[in-house]
Amino acid sequence: MDLLDDVRAVLSEGDICDGCLGRRFAERSYGLTSLERGNALRVAVAMEDDEAYDPPSSDDCWVCDGDFASFDDWAERAASAAEGYDFETFLVGTRVPPLVEENERLLDEIHGDDYAASFSSEFNREVGKRFGERVGASVEFERPDVTVTLDLSRDDVEVDVHSVYFYGRYRKLERGIAQTEWGCYDCDGTGTRGGDDCETCDGSGYIVDESVEELLLPAFLEATDGSDAVFHGAGREDVDALMLGDGRPFVMEVEKPRRRDVDVEALQSDANERAEGKVEVRELRRVDRDTVERVKSLDASKRYRALVSLGDDVSQDELDAALDALVGTVEQRTPSRVDRRRADKVREREVYEATGEADGDEATVELHTEGGLYVKELVSGDEGRTKRSLADELGVEATVEELDVLSVEAEEDFVEAAR
Ligand SMILES: [Zn+2]
Ligand SMILES: [Zn+2]
Repeated sequence: MDLLDDVRAVLSEGDICDGCLGRRFAERSYGLTSLERGNALRVAVAMEDDEAYDPPSSDDCWVCDGDFASFDDWAERAASAAEGYDFETFLVGTRVPPLVEENERLLDEIHGDDYAASFSSEFNREVGKRFGERVGASVEFERPDVTVTLDLSRDDVEVDVHSVYFYGRYRKLERGIAQTEWGCYDCDGTGTRGGDDCETCDGSGYIVDESVEELLLPAFLEATDGSDAVFHGAGREDVDALMLGDGRPFVMEVEKPRRRDVDVEALQSDANERAEGKVEVRELRRVDRDTVERVKSLDASKRYRALVSLGDDVSQDELDAALDALVGTVEQRTPSRVDRRRADKVREREVYEATGEADGDEATVELHTEGGLYVKELVSGDEGRTKRSLADELGVEATVEELDVLSVEAEEDFVEAAR
């Protein structure tokens, strides 16, 4: 069939706008919009048939019912919905009204869709072009800063501002600080039970008053003007353990940021100032969303320093022998201190190095272990639940009194910088 015969066939189905007509032939030639294609084809048919040119009225289009004439309007609405947010990239999506979808399908069935572009892809492109010009941003398919959804049925524009992510390492220099906000389980964080102050948390709503997350959060929220922030850590240390050395990797995710392009160095020093020496951040930089998963699944080896109290005096030789015997594979059942609802299972973990200094009925021990090993249980034996323990090897009770993380050792390249 001839191209113009195809056009005549489409025109014979009923009044159709230039946009919808042109879309049928989207893959013929290039550098043209659907409106230009539709208009050119309509003119060509009028000329070949030597009949009066009959300009279409988009409101009468049986396929889109006039929606295809509203690109500027939607672009303007999207721009005002996105106002106040600073972003460089976006993606537009369109929810097509069911009736338009049905009309399109009908046309496809009658005339085939070999050269056609769908309503939604055209709508996305045309509104996206206009929106991008208004807000000074460009289209990005993989990781847009912002997603705009045009809901044509509900006559609604949704703007989804995606989170911004910062990677860093934190050091915890004071004990008694949780990693993330730790709400009271007895009062659900409200601080009251049955009209009185909750006894579990003294009415604070928190089991541990301070957390690394809460200490760092204000600086991140202020720098980005975000709505909220979520802390993702590469594992965690006990509330009472210090985190020393180069610190533990983390990602701070800020939701609905109004600013993305922040001065990361200034943010880091502001965060450190506000944390008053309790927590210290280093190596801060912007990263992609993917880094969250990488950081969370990071099973890095760790170096610990533990202060251990012993059931009896132990000599340096005895301690050395016991620590030597500890190096290698240990079997740990889920520790008795862990939530009982968790499944009990046996894990094998490696102890790479163990050294220490005896001092009467105390010892200071340094351990280098595989990620996921429970150190308190490695020392105490957890009533036989951890096999090979310092207590067993020494033949006396052994309890961790203080535990610090000296370093978290990770592969070098698990962090991917943001664009
Ligand atoms: Zn139309
Ligand atoms: Zn409480």
